[in-house]
Amino acid sequence: MSRFWNPLVADLHPYIPGEQPHFTDILKLNTNELPYGPSPTALSVMQEGCNDSLRLYPDPTARDLRQTIASVYDTVPERVFVGNGSDEVLAHAFRALIAPEAPMLFADVSYGFYPVYCGLFGQPYQEIPLNERFEIDIEDYAIPCGGIAIANPNANTGHALSLGAISRLATLQPDRTIIIDEAYVDFGAESAVSLTREHDNLLVVQTLSKSRALAGLRVGYAIGHPDLIEGLIRVKDSFNSYPLSRLAQAGASAAIADTAWLTSTTGRVMASRDRFVQVMSGLGFDILPSCANFVLVHHPAHKAGDLLAGLRERHIIVRQLSAPRIRDWLRITIGTDDEMSRLIEALASMGLTPR
Ligand SMILES: *Cc1c(COP(=O)(O)O)cnc(C)c1O
Repeated sequence: MSRFWNPLVADLHPYIPGEQPHFTDILKLNTNELPYGPSPTALSVMQEGCNDSLRLYPDPTARDLRQTIASVYDTVPERVFVGNGSDEVLAHAFRALIAPEAPMLFADVSYGFYPVYCGLFGQPYQEIPLNERFEIDIEDYAIPCGGIAIANPNANTGHALSLGAISRLATLQPDRTIIIDEAYVDFGAESAVSLTREHDNLLVVQTLSKSRALAGLRVGYAIGHPDLIEGLIRVKDSFNSYPLSRLAQAGASAAIADTAWLTSTTGRVMASRDRFVQVMSGLGFDILPSCANFVLVHHPAHKAGDLLAGLRERHIIVRQLSAPRIRDWLRITIGTDDEMSRLIEALASMGLTPR
């Protein structure tokens, strides 16, 4: 606490991102990055963009990028908003589109940034417990609220809702914004973008950080009714008119257009996930069924903290999360087959071998 701080600052509980270690020879399976590189076309577009034009401000409306997103998702640029990572898009959505007088709803096990934004904006919230299978039950969200955020697939569990369930939720809460955070949707779930046409209260948020292997570029976007988008633009232009650099706009546009690269790299990750799940269940782990590029695992005979420490000694970093219900679980990002074999070998050296 400093006497120079606004009192609000002392009360903040900032989000703690997964570690980005600085030593080499480390296998990083803790922040759900893609093991394969970004679209080669996107990389060359950005290399070519490193020129004299960088002295000029970027397009504050990111028109070309929004147009590309609109064509890939079969919609129009008026329904597309872009931001500096989906974290920023989510922050603007919490600020612009949630009724401040009633609690916002999200799951007790979900993306850790949701309660953090509520803290920053003074937004009351209520955490809705996942059911006993660690799944979101839509009927639990049919209560008075200021708005809803749902990660689909859910962060940290990997469980995905059907479009029917999302559509029903939108109908149950016609006067509240429902944010569907699709950070992991490309790893085996169905996107709710098509539903935004019939439901004016649905905002679908996506990111280039996971499936498009561009976490370092910081680009995210939202698709929804033009009134929602206009609310986001009003907040954005009251905060930072140029959140996306010229390079980010050009690279993101090329990456989004390269759907072939997306399909092949995410396909490889999904195949590796299936193989990894097989081996891990042979080692006696409980594994939640995952539609994301990570799996949440628990071993009845080994504490998560011990496994985390043992793997770390062997230079493999996975993630232990703070939500009380999954304290004894570990979240493991899916890397290449070779990387997953390295993890299995490390577990074997810690005494975990097939039963
Ligand atoms: C990774 C992640 C994000 C943030 O993505 P950025 O675009 O890198 O800010 C948002 N939501 C969920 C559920 C995530 O897992």
